[in-house]
Amino acid sequence: MMAGTAVAGTAVVAAVAALASLALISWWLNRRVLRPLRDLAKDAERLAGGDLASRAQAPAAVGEIAALARSLDLLAERLRVQGRELAEERQHWRGIADRELAEERRQAETRRDLVANVSHELKTPLTAIRGYAESLEDGALEDPEIGPRFVSRILDQCQRLEALLRDQLALARLEQIEQIADAEVIDLGEAARRAVEALNPLAREREVDLILAADDSPRIRGSRSELDNLVLNLVENAIKYNRPGGEVRMALATDGDEAVIEVADTGIGIPEAAVARIFERFYRVDKGRAREQGGTGLGLAIVKHAARLLGGRVEVESRLGEGSVFRVRLPGAAA
Ligand code: ADP
Repeated sequence: MMAGTAVAGTAVVAAVAALASLALISWWLNRRVLRPLRDLAKDAERLAGGDLASRAQAPAAVGEIAALARSLDLLAERLRVQGRELAEERQHWRGIADRELAEERRQAETRRDLVANVSHELKTPLTAIRGYAESLEDGALEDPEIGPRFVSRILDQCQRLEALLRDQLALARLEQIEQIADAEVIDLGEAARRAVEALNPLAREREVDLILAADDSPRIRGSRSELDNLVLNLVENAIKYNRPGGEVRMALATDGDEAVIEVADTGIGIPEAAVARIFERFYRVDKGRAREQGGTGLGLAIVKHAARLLGGRVEVESRLGEGSVFRVRLPGAAA
């Protein structure tokens, strides 16, 4: 009886112990395995949903589950970094794309302006030519006085058209060149003398004294045609925008590493507000006067591009009613 009770007692104890250890195991399983796994599943879901900020919460996890949690964290961290890099890259490319688009738009606008300007400049002389030709056809040809006058006006307008096309082509060519291919050492003094020779007749016609003060003769590296273009345009303007009895003085100098060519006139001068714009194509301070002079409005744009190609720059000082000084600084040719 005692033994039976004892056996039964042992069985109960064993059962209780078994139950207890089962409960313990399931508690342990729940706390260390199942709950962490559930949390991890939630973390993975959040991760998949794009939430990279929260970290995997599995402080109680053991062994491989803890390792899994760490891997998940690592993955989230990598994704965070990659995401940041991608965003930065996208921003960078978007910035470049925006800038390219703006530049393209600006270029298209410049092209449109250019075509409109050139068309306008071509239209004026063509309209005049047509007017004179129609008048001649209507009887002016028979008039011994008006006939020859209108014919000579037609020739003037043709010359204007030719000058416009010549300057436009010269400018288009200058704009296309990035660098002078066949650069050679050239003498500023020789270019200045060529300009004097070419423009002496115009100076005499306008009663302007053309003086070359060349005690120095600096040399530069470049192309003769570019330098001639530059000097001729500056000297021609200095004569055109002058007054009878006035003076154009060309001076050459060396200033440190630079060769300097200066064209000073005693002419009408340039209003301060216009100085910044005179290098724009077709910009004229006084449209009437510029037309009368037969200018194309492209001379200083050519000067600016020629100076750029020769590696230099142009400076202007001017006083309204007193005169202007155009100074071109070019890198001198190394001795
Ligand atoms: P244009 O064919 O009209 O002379 P430019 O490009 O050579 O064209 O010059 C632009 C404008 O700058 C001229 O119309 C004139 O108003 C002004 N300009 C240029 N050079 C001088 C100068 N030496 N003195 C006064 N104004 C000048």
